[in-house]
Amino acid sequence: MNKANSRDKTYTGIILKKIPFRETSFILDILIKELGIVSVIAKGIRKENSQSQGIIDLLNELDLELYKNPNSEWFILKKADFIKSHLYQMDFQTTILMQSAVEIYRQLIIDQTEASLLYTLLIRYLTYLEAKPTNAIAIFWRFLLRLFKIVGIEFQLKHCVICDREKSFFAYYPIKHGFICKDCYRIAMQEQVIELSENVPEILNKLENIGNYLKKISISESSQKQLNRIFLLHLSEHFHKKFLLKSLKMLYL
Ligand SMILES: [Zn+2]
Repeated sequence: MNKANSRDKTYTGIILKKIPFRETSFILDILIKELGIVSVIAKGIRKENSQSQGIIDLLNELDLELYKNPNSEWFILKKADFIKSHLYQMDFQTTILMQSAVEIYRQLIIDQTEASLLYTLLIRYLTYLEAKPTNAIAIFWRFLLRLFKIVGIEFQLKHCVICDREKSFFAYYPIKHGFICKDCYRIAMQEQVIELSENVPEILNKLENIGNYLKKISISESSQKQLNRIFLLHLSEHFHKKFLLKSLKMLYL
């Protein structure tokens, strides 16, 4: 009986990182639907023809056959079958927004119970972006909103986090992990809140169904930056570590 073969298993995954390793190999970080993010060694790939190298490109969805040595945390790639490429022939903005999601995932600790939901969320997000919607940045925020729900740090977008009434938001209040209305705002909070600018309250209010409004809203660069900041702050506050997005900054150079 071949013991090694009994540890070969098939999975569905999407590549989040690819770096050259030694002379002929790659190390891949792959979000696997059934496992979460794992590190996989693709041996000897760089020796082979360019076609098989292309299969393991960033954000490619693959059917994978993996072998895991029980004494190591590494998986070894035995076989990869191409399902779909998401990054191929995308424009600059779409590429950035896709990479921003990847950066978030790579900073999260994804456990096995959340892996399947986060996998589906990512694929849906990428697919939505591929249609090149107007105001695509809002799709990124909606993606984060859904991600927050999955990882248990849901954003309350209808009610003030202090009075719990359904009111228009005035500011983001990081200490309370949410938004407050004007009535609950006190001058003493000035240093601790981010006062919402322009149409940010309206965007937040519509964000869950933002797909219906993409062509009707306009979002200034300063509003975009403010919302980016609030969403990242929410992640950072909850996970007690700084979430940084290098890629997203490139949208505003
Ligand atoms: Zn209030």
